[in-house]
Amino acid sequence: MRRVDRPTLSQVLAGLDLPGPITPLLGRVEPPKDLGPVVVGDPPLIVLGETAEHITVAQARIRWIDVGATTVTVYKPRSLAWPPDVSPEGLGPVRHEVARAIHLRKKGFQRCRWCGKRLPREWMDFSDCCMGCAERYEGVVH
Ligand SMILES: [Zn+2]
Repeated sequence: MRRVDRPTLSQVLAGLDLPGPITPLLGRVEPPKDLGPVVVGDPPLIVLGETAEHITVAQARIRWIDVGATTVTVYKPRSLAWPPDVSPEGLGPVRHEVARAIHLRKKGFQRCRWCGKRLPREWMDFSDCCMGCAERYEGVVH
């Protein structure tokens, strides 16, 4: 059987100049074949996954599963054809989709009035106060 001649997910990731750390997305059914699925960013911004035919780009969402315990889920995944190579032209469509997903994800972030950080709404206790500052300054006990 002929091996498909295309870059691996790790080669694509290396060519994308992604913001923040790249960590494995845990708790998925399929074990990673190459490197994916992976979460990019801290706080989590996007999830990149792969199938034989496609690269999947999704916005990341944080889901609380217990007190102090979270998992990352995917939101609005979009599938793209594998780039033929990791040249700037070859990676163009993936880079575009990654930038789009990061933009949409960050658009939903909210600024904390105490620490001034823009954070995912999943980490906010109120629309203008993050969980850490809610404990520190608002008397909230989690
Ligand atoms: Zn804060």
